[in-house]
Amino acid sequence: MALDESLQAILDKWGSEDHLYDFLHSEMESLSCVVFGKEVSLPDIQVKPNWLARGIMGEHPTAGGDYEPEDNEFPAQIGLFPSVLLDERMIQIVIAHELIHHWEYMVHNDCSELNYPAEIDEVIDRTLKTPKRTSRWRSGHSARFISKATVVARKLDLPLLDMLFRG
Ligand SMILES: [Zn+2]
Repeated sequence: MALDESLQAILDKWGSEDHLYDFLHSEMESLSCVVFGKEVSLPDIQVKPNWLARGIMGEHPTAGGDYEPEDNEFPAQIGLFPSVLLDERMIQIVIAHELIHHWEYMVHNDCSELNYPAEIDEVIDRTLKTPKRTSRWRSGHSARFISKATVVARKLDLPLLDMLFRG
């Protein structure tokens, strides 16, 4: 049902899986220049089933992707959910979000961007609504992540809230 329909719509848009992956790789490359400011080894990128996006408790219903750091023989990986693959701008936003996770794992000594406007904390609390959801989100998104997202969103002229919460 819904799965087949959404996959068919994605194929209709991109023509083939190869074209889609070409686009994803070239977007990741240009976005990584903005996030890292230099060439780095990039994660694998892969389309994942939508049901993974909801998580076991259904706590993350708007997620467009996820990130797994390198683990022994497994390379770092960005997963994208089909729900974002019909919209180039949403793809950009989600890849940028996941690349910031990659940056956090790869770059440890850059303390120059540990500031962001205080009102962003208020917006985050307001958006997530409950202390439980807020603390769960914050456990995966540090102040350093938020600072970097603020800079990247400004450079790319993308909406910060989407960049924070759609990844
Ligand atoms: Zn995230």
